[in-house]
Parts: sequence; structure tokens; C-alpha cells
Amino acid sequence: MENGSRTEQIELGIVSDAKVGDWVLYATDRAVRRIDEIEAREIIELLEDNYQPVDIKALPLKYKRIIYKIRTEGQKNRKTEELKKNEIENFRTNSNKKNDKLSTTGYSILTNSDLEYLLNLKGSNNLEALYSEANVMRKDRLEDFVCIHGIIEFSNFCKNNCLYCGIRADAKINRYRMSEVEIFRAAKFAVEQEGYKLIVLQSGEDYSYSDNDLIKIIRKIKEHLRVFIFISMGERSKRFYRAAFEGGASGSLFRFETSNPKLYRKMHPGHSLDERLRSLRDQIEIGYYIASGGLIGLPGQTISDLADDLLLVRKLGIPMLSAGPWIESAQSPLSKIKDQKSKIKNIEGDFDQSSDLLPTDYSLLSNDDRLRLTLNYIAAARLLMPEIKIPVTTALETLDPASGRHKGLLAGANALMFNITPEKYRADYNLYDHKYIEREKVWQKYGLFKGEESYEMLEERLQI
Ligand code: SAH
Repeated sequence: MENGSRTEQIELGIVSDAKVGDWVLYATDRAVRRIDEIEAREIIELLEDNYQPVDIKALPLKYKRIIYKIRTEGQKNRKTEELKKNEIENFRTNSNKKNDKLSTTGYSILTNSDLEYLLNLKGSNNLEALYSEANVMRKDRLEDFVCIHGIIEFSNFCKNNCLYCGIRADAKINRYRMSEVEIFRAAKFAVEQEGYKLIVLQSGEDYSYSDNDLIKIIRKIKEHLRVFIFISMGERSKRFYRAAFEGGASGSLFRFETSNPKLYRKMHPGHSLDERLRSLRDQIEIGYYIASGGLIGLPGQTISDLADDLLLVRKLGIPMLSAGPWIESAQSPLSKIKDQKSKIKNIEGDFDQSSDLLPTDYSLLSNDDRLRLTLNYIAAARLLMPEIKIPVTTALETLDPASGRHKGLLAGANALMFNITPEKYRADYNLYDHKYIEREKVWQKYGLFKGEESYEMLEERLQI
């Protein structure tokens, strides 16, 4: 079977009558259905890269050293997988130990300073080299497996006041809360009509749903629909997480937001990174498939903080990265940084003013720079953790609606997140301004093929 320049063997499975010369849609190593040539070319285009040839001589020595390290030590590192598993096991059993130092060394072959270098990389030749390196790694380790999640944002009420967030408690916005019936109906439509196999139930921290209310909803969905359920509801108790897991939630989308405890405290009044990580560790221990990571480009954050975020994801053995650029929301105090310099002091307080601090006046970081930083982050994550699943986040798509999704995938991401919140509520779940809510038809058409086979493939891939 020809796939661009590659020749591969695939199992014909359910399209056993395919003949030589036919085009078939396949995932993993199994054919799913026969398609015509026009469709086939459309699919190939989805992940086709258009990288210019890289001028290797012009690449900086430091960059070459880092890549050399990945390519050579990466091989050796495969052998240490066992070791890594042991470390994760130890971590799980030690997870309730207080003040567990989040060392940034461990089993990672890239250091904080290597990652910082990759995150800072600029210039088209350097960036072509970085993204295509990450893209090759994605293809090598994950083939062209692209996972599509559908997110149902079921309530925008929130008791918290995170400084960056547009649905924070103090935001003056239309609030909505979906009923159990509405949530179930949205899930049923997504799964049965559209072919979603993985849904995320997300909300602000809204305690007007009791633990039991939420567990009842999860149970009902699981009972009637064949679908993986991720929950993303904030810091509820360990008891809740355990019961929700038993009720049928198998994944948790739960960002630690930033691994810098000082910055965390500034951004989340009344909360600490310790508490957040404690909850994350509880969820790991219970057995959730975790998607986690942080915000990219928060005022007061440094590039070194971002490198630490990636190392923390690696250290925790998180299988799916969830990280996206910070985008202003007019409803949040951070957006005022732009116009009212005098207020920066109040927000920033005692931040160290080191030289690699991201601009505190966020308008200094142009849209292009934010996009570059996010793509560099995806590529660095792929090179640091070859097999991690990386969804392109809605925030990246918002930065570049025309091609953010494509660029993200070609910089090493391999999953997409589509908004499936009922239309009448969608516009009110405004985490930030101008949130992108399009779902490309072409991805819907090819990525969500139905049938038992595809569900089993996902199970195999995610091992949940
Ligand atoms: N209550 C849940 C879900 C929070 S909203 C929880 O606590 O986990 C989902 C994510 O949106 C957050 O984790 C945050 O990283 C992101 N987010 C919030 N405001 C944002 C902004 N202004 N720009 C980009 N991402 C934002």
C-alpha cells in the first residue's frame, strides 16, 4: 500500500474486497473503508507538510548539539523505559509525601537549558528544522494517528477567580448551567450522530452540581453510549474522583497551569500549586488517563518556567499534554495590563525581574510571537516525550484561525479538540476573547468514522 513515499502493509480487515489500485482509508494498520481518489488526496493533504529544505550549515551549533543528543541518546533511552516505569510507580506510591521536590532532572535527556533554547528559537530556517524534526518524531512514533476529542462545556459558573480566566467568579457574563438531560442529549448526539468516541465534560468549579449529580451523569452516559469520558471540573475531592472513575470516567483533563509556585499563587488567589498537584497525584493514583500541562505566556512567566512545565509533565509520566497560549479576556484583570501599566505592580508584586521574563506588558508579545512560542513548545514537548499525545488547543486555533490547527499538527501535535457544546450556550463559555469554535468538516468527515473497529483501535492506542 503506497502512502506518499512510504510503502506499508496494512490489514484489509473490513474491506476485504479491495483490489490493487483501490484507495482505502486506514487507521493504525487496519483498513476502514474504500474511498475514491479525490477523497484520498484530501486526507493526505490534512497531514502533508510543506517544509522547505533546511540549510543545515546555517543551523546554530547549540541547536545541532541538542538534536544530536536527542537522536543518539534517544535510542539509548528506549532501553531505560523499564527504569522510567519504576520511577513512575515509586512516584505514585510516594505521592502523598509532602514537599516532594519537583526535580527537573530525572530521566529526561533534555535539560531545562536545552528546552529553554528550543523555546526561544527564532528565524525561519531554524524553525523549519525544529518543526520538521518534531513532525518526523510524531510520524515515527505515532504514525498518522490523530485523536479527536469533543468537548461539552456544561456550565460556566465558577467559584474561583483565576486572574487570566474569562469565566472567573467576578466576570460579568451570561451564566448557564446545563441539566442532566441536556448534557446526556449533547453526548448522545455527538456519539451517535457524529461519531465521537472521546468526550470531555468541562465546567467551571460549580458546586451546585453535587458529586452525586455528576456521577449520575457520567454513569448514564457510560451506560447508554460507547464512549471514553474525560472529566474537567477542577479540584474536587479524592472521593469524588474515585467515585467518578468507578462510574465510568476514564480520563481527566486537569492542568497544573504553571509549575512555578509563586506565579501560581499570583494567578490563583487563595490557592496553591501544592493543592493542585495533590489533586493531580490523587487522580494519577486512582488510574485516570491524564491530560495536563500549563498556560503558555502568562505575564510574569519566564521561558525557564515553561521548560520546567514540560519537565514536570515528563516527571509525572503524563500521557497527554494539555497546554495552550494565554489569551486576554476582557473579563479578567490580566487583560488590563495592556492599558494600565500602573496596575502591573499590583498584579506582579514581588516577581523577580530576570532578563528572560516574558513581557509583562503582554501587548509586547505580538500575535506572531505567541504563535511561535506555542509551536516551539509543542515541538519541544514532542522531542522531550516522543510518544506523548498532544492535542492542538482551541487557544492556538484562536491565535491563527486559518492554519493554527495544521501548524500545530505539523509541529508535533497529534490530536484535536472540537467544541460540541450545544449552540445556544457555546458563545457564553468564553475563557478568553474571540474563542475559536469552528470544526473543520474535512476532519469531522474522515476523523470520526464510525464502527466497532475504530473504538477498539482507540482503546489499543490509549490503553484505557
Ligand atoms: N474548572 C476546570 C476547567 C478550567 S477551564 C479546572 O479547574 O481544571 C479550562 C482551561 O482553560 C484552564 O485549565 C486554563 O488553562 C484555560 N484558560 C482559562 N483562561 C484562559 C485564557 N485566558 N487563555 C487561555 N487559556 C485559558
